[in-house]
Amino acid sequence: MAWASVIDQPRVLETLQRAIGSQRVAHAYLFHGPDGSGKRAAALAFAQALQCAEGGPEPCGACSGCRKVERLIHPDVHVMMPYPRGTDTEDVAQRIQRLAKHPYAAVDFVRRPSLDDPTKSSNKQVMYHVDRVNDDLRRSMSYKPLEGRYKFVLLLDADLMRPEAANAFLKLLEEPGDRTVFVLTTKRPDRLLPTILSRCQRLRFDPLSADGLAAALRDRDDVPADKAATYARMADGSYTRALDLLENEDLMAHRAMVIDYMRYAYVRDLDKLADLAEEIQRLGRERVKGLLRLLLSWIRDLVLYHTMGADAPLVNVDQAKAIARFCSNLPNADLEAMVDLVEDALDLVQRNVQIGLTMMTLAAALGRAMRGSHSGRLYVPLADPVAPFAA
Ligand SMILES: [Zn+2]
Repeated sequence: MAWASVIDQPRVLETLQRAIGSQRVAHAYLFHGPDGSGKRAAALAFAQALQCAEGGPEPCGACSGCRKVERLIHPDVHVMMPYPRGTDTEDVAQRIQRLAKHPYAAVDFVRRPSLDDPTKSSNKQVMYHVDRVNDDLRRSMSYKPLEGRYKFVLLLDADLMRPEAANAFLKLLEEPGDRTVFVLTTKRPDRLLPTILSRCQRLRFDPLSADGLAAALRDRDDVPADKAATYARMADGSYTRALDLLENEDLMAHRAMVIDYMRYAYVRDLDKLADLAEEIQRLGRERVKGLLRLLLSWIRDLVLYHTMGADAPLVNVDQAKAIARFCSNLPNADLEAMVDLVEDALDLVQRNVQIGLTMMTLAAALGRAMRGSHSGRLYVPLADPVAPFAA
């Protein structure tokens, strides 16, 4: 969990190490940046350096403080995450233990409603509730560090706070205890209260490079080099997503579905599309979102190939031939519109619009965009499943 566990992000690490070295650790930090860029890994390394008995910016790894942070059992290090009401505390504890073992693993309730089944989805709202801020957090803030040098609180996905919870948390931030350090993580800093933002030192995390990611997959997860390179590019800068992909045996099957879907959309084979849309709907909402992201990466590859030709750094490297064929068959395709359409579809699926209908409407719109004749946003009529093909 030392600094070396963090991939890339040298600028962020330097800032944190300098703060410890000069004993000017801020009271609150906001780590913001995309999923899987290392916000949690950096926060945990920071916690270890702060609790290390040596007191320097480099944690020794051997003292009791270091070892307890390593296992996330230090009484002065609190890791909080938003969860649905009624969640079993044992479930939360297991997630924190997994985080200790692999700080880039997906452990949150949004991405992983069931810790052991990556394909399961849920409609339950994942939020910080005011009673947790007032009870759990305020109580643990009310006493001095028990054995560490600091009291360290890591709030994951801090944007998922109800207004009452955010206001209660703001009060805690306004009356900083001695030697208390808050680290908030988020991929959507714009969703935090401005009054919370203004009290945090902000550190931005960039998406990881494909090379950095591939090296991590090889060295830490024993992934063979060629597979690591493919997954690293598909993961779009997120180690967490790369791990998700690794875990998901269905990935290649889903990508084959994406390619069929594009082909049927182009030739407007409504029967095959209807069958495929039904098959996709059966995957469940979370996996459909994954499938749409694959579709997006496929279209982005078309954009790359279209502008750069054979030198394009494709995400779907092993599909270069199919991508080249698609491009030469579709000289008038409005690729930007296609990207927008899939992003719209992702948004609709997120908002619980019926999946089969969304996939059919999307196929019709993509078919038009492939011929260069689509304009506007994706519109899914809520009641009439025939409408998308009326035109
Ligand atoms: Zn130590």
